[in-house]
This record gives sequence, C-alpha cells and structure tokens, in this order.
Amino acid sequence: MAIGCEDQHKTPVPEERTCPVCGKDIEVFVVKGRVVEDAVCDCGYVIKADEAE
Ligand SMILES: [Zn+2]
Repeated sequence: MAIGCEDQHKTPVPEERTCPVCGKDIEVFVVKGRVVEDAVCDCGYVIKADEAE
C-alpha cells in the first residue's frame, strides 16, 4: 500500500478547537479545514462534523 503526496488531502489531521461551553481544547480531525468526524468534549458538547454539500 503506497502512501504518496496525493493522499494528504484525504488524510484527516488532528486540530484543536476550543469548546464554546467549557473552554477546553478538543481534538477534532479535519481534512482541508473541514471537520470530518464528530468530537465529544468532556462536558458533553459535541462538535459536529461538517456536512458535505
Ligand atoms: Zn466542553
């Protein structure tokens, strides 16, 4: 299985977002700035994945 440069825009990268409820940093996975997976904060707040249009 070859991993080339072209895989980069498909590979989710971890990014920190600040929870609007408790102010904690939450790690979300993004591809090109788009959240691709729901992330749940310790306080229960959920950062929803961005919907594809
Ligand atoms: Zn929180």
